[in-house]
Formats: sequence, C-alpha cells, structure tokens
Amino acid sequence: MKEKSVIQAQVHTSSYYAASVGDATDFAPLRGEKSADVCVVGAGFTGVSTALHLAERGYDVHVVEAKKVGWGASGRNGGQLIGGISGERTIAKNIHNDTADVLRNLRWGGHDIIRERVATYGIQCDLKFGYLDVAIRTRHLRDFRSEYERLQRESFPHKVEILSKDVTCELIGTNAYVGALLNMGNGHLHPLKLCVGEARAAVACGATIYEQSPVVDIQKGDKAKVVTAQGSVTADAVIIAGNAYHSVEPKLRGVMFPVNSFIIATEPLDDEIVATINPRDLAVCDPNFVLEYFRLSADKRLLFGGRCNYFGDDPKSIEKRLRPKMSKIYPQLATVRIDYAWGGTIGVPVNRVPQLGRLSPNVLYCQGYSGHGVNVTHLAGQIMADAIAGVLERFDLFADIKPVVIPGAYVLSKPMVALGILYHQIKDRL
Ligand SMILES: Cc1cc2nc3c(=O)[nH]c(=O)nc-3n(C[C@H](O)[C@H](O)[C@H](O)COP(=O)(O)OP(=O)(O)OC[C@H]3O[C@@H](n4cnc5c(N)ncnc54)[C@H](O)[C@@H]3O)c2cc1C
Repeated sequence: MKEKSVIQAQVHTSSYYAASVGDATDFAPLRGEKSADVCVVGAGFTGVSTALHLAERGYDVHVVEAKKVGWGASGRNGGQLIGGISGERTIAKNIHNDTADVLRNLRWGGHDIIRERVATYGIQCDLKFGYLDVAIRTRHLRDFRSEYERLQRESFPHKVEILSKDVTCELIGTNAYVGALLNMGNGHLHPLKLCVGEARAAVACGATIYEQSPVVDIQKGDKAKVVTAQGSVTADAVIIAGNAYHSVEPKLRGVMFPVNSFIIATEPLDDEIVATINPRDLAVCDPNFVLEYFRLSADKRLLFGGRCNYFGDDPKSIEKRLRPKMSKIYPQLATVRIDYAWGGTIGVPVNRVPQLGRLSPNVLYCQGYSGHGVNVTHLAGQIMADAIAGVLERFDLFADIKPVVIPGAYVLSKPMVALGILYHQIKDRL
C-alpha cells in the first residue's frame, strides 16, 4: 500500500491567507536518521525566524514541522505588525544596565528584522505601514498619550500622532472610538506569505525543513535527539518552537493559557466603501484584553478579528460571533458576504512575559508572546540564535524570569480560559 493513503496529509486551516498565499510549501517529511548542528521543532514564525538567523550564520539547521510551514498561529493571525512586548514591566525589573536601550530593542527589534528580511529576500507579503491604536474610553487616551511621549523621548523615527475623535472618524469612518494613536512605524502584512517567504530564504541559506512530521519525543543528552514516527534528527542543540500547539513536553504546556482568537474576511469591498472606511489602509486595534482588530487585505476585504469564548473552528459559528461586532462598527457591512472565517490559538503566560528558557543544557524553548507575536517572534529567533552562539545576555534576561506554573492549565484549559475571558470582559468595560 502506498504511504500517502495511510498518512493523512495536513493542510492549512481554510483561511483567507491559505487561499491567497500563492506559494504552497511541500517539503518532504523527515525519514531516516539525520544529524544537524541545531534542530528546531515547529515552523511558525519562531521556528522559521530562528532557523533563518542560524542558517545565515552558517549553522546546519533542520526544522521539523508537524503540519505545514505557518500552519499554527503564524499563518492565521491578524497580520498586525504591533510594536512593544507583553510583560514589559516585569521584564524591565530584571534589566540592570542600559534599561531604555534594551527595552527599545525588545519593543521594536522585531520590526527591524522583518523590514530587513522583506528587503533582503524580496518577500512579497503585502507589508504596509500605518497603524491606529483606537481608544474606547478616555483612560485609553491617557495611556496613548504616555506612549506618545515616550516615543518622542526615544526619538522614534516614524510619525506618531494623537488623534481626536473627529480625525479618527475621518480616517476609519466610524464614531465608535473617542480618539486614537497613529503610529506609522507599525503596520500590517500577510503573515502566511511572510512565514513561507522566510522559510524559502532559510532553505536558500542552507536550512532543511521537513513538513508533515509530528515530533513524538525529544531525547536529552550530550547530543539531543528529535524523534518522529519515521525518522530522527540528532543535534548539538534543540529549540522547541511549538508554542500553544506544542504537546510533547508537559512542562511547556502548563505555563501558559491557550487563548483563541478568530477572524472573518469579507468579500472584496467596493472602492466607494473602502474610501469611507479606511482610505489610508491602516491597521486598527483596540486596547481591550478581549480585543477587536481589523484592517484591509491587499484585495480590499475587511479582515475583522477578535477574542471570544468559543473553542471550535466552525466557520458559521465564528461568523455568527464576529459579524455583529463588525456591524456595530460598520453598519454598512451588515449584509456583506463573509468569504472566510477561521481561528487559531495564542499562548498567553500568566505574567505575560515571553518564555525563553532551557529544559536541559542543550534543549531550549521559546514561546508565549500573547498578542504580540508577529514582531516578538522575529526578535526571539535572533535571541535564540545568539544563545546557540553562546551570546546569552538577552536570552538570560528572559530565562531568569521563571514562568508561573498553572496547575491544571492543560487539562482544564477550556473552563479556565472561559473564566479568564469573562473576567477580562468585565474589566475591559470598567
Ligand atoms: C487568530 C490570531 C490572531 C493573531 N493576531 C496577531 C496580530 O495581529 N499581531 C500579532 O503580533 N500577533 C498576533 N497573533 C499572535 C501570533 O500569531 C503568535 O504569537 C505567533 O504567530 C506565534 O508564533 P510561533 O511560531 O511561536 O507559534 P505557531 O505559529 O503557533 O507555530 C507553532 C508550530 O509548531 C508546530 N508544532 C507544534 N508541536 C509540534 C510537534 N510536536 N512537532 C512538530 N511541530 C510541532 C505547529 O504545527 C505549528 O506550526 C494572533 C494569533 C492568532 C491565533
């Protein structure tokens, strides 16, 4: 019997991104015994970014992905290129020298890496700059003003501006917000195109990627061994980059909550509608924990996303939950066709600090960026590559902050997350 009929090939979730990526990866599964300098488990932004940093530095790196490049959160997200890093206050307490410089790098370093890669490797990922943090309440405007002042103090090289309610309404055609912070250093992109583009770049630099290869065991030792059903990679070091989808190492499952976020994509909108709802093509996000975010795609669909208490992946149920939220902001879109609806899982640590650490001297992990994944995964990849090269300053900054263990987080994740979302929904309204 041919193997293909036995193994069910994994495909992307049916998102707008999967339908428009234009470059479907089809890397061969891992078969047989291989060896490498470094083996990376998972080919989302963290894994691919790490692999590209390592391959650029001459390491022989093998990436083992259970499904497809960008199959997890990296190929499904809002595509919002947001600055900052979650858990910043806790991180700051652990920085002893040059705090402002270190924090600036952590907040914006990922953006620089993405810009450079898009330029260096000619990655066509619909990258656009321009971003609005919108305020629902006046307290949000106070927070935006502090952020604005901080960016001014830091001589942030891109335009930032506090906008009144009227100007916000002019820019995004809705009265739903009391003002906004415009930041032309943030932006939006097609995340799956970026992830695939970076994977291609990594391979061009010498990396090897295996798809359709779930890792079932990671054996520790002087050399570590990553094992799948059909093969293994023995390596000097292993980096686990499975984030909220990882299930092999129990220690990594119990230190963050798997929180779901969902997105709907409308049909392409008429030019007249686009001119009223987002003529400047800005990405938009509110500051709530149970947040809403939206932007236009390159073909002028509205991609509207949000968190909610739902754990399934049925497109009709997702549409049912998100359409009313979108229509509240844009009543003119109440009857527009929804072409795609999908969701994905984000790893949210209790203290919100991204988790970079070691399970053994040469088995490292990197996960849990909350909603700041697009930029921070790229920086994390660089920090992990530095750690492999023995440059540990930034890695240790994170590794020294011990993750808060959540008893029952994996087994009881659904009721715990549901309660958490409810709690934050109430807090968001205060
Ligand atoms: C709907 C949604 C919207 C979001 N919107 C934004 C946004 O607009 N802006 C932003 O900055 N962030 C956003 N995020 C968060 C961001 O997408 C994530 O933080 C980021 O993509 C995490 O990347 P990652 O590579 O660490 O994990 P993932 O992309 O989840 O990748 C993990 C990979 O590891 C693989 N894997 C797991 N276990 C194994 C195993 N045993 N063997 C082999 N492979 C394995 C998985 O198959 C997967 O491909 C959003 C997330 C979601 C779900």
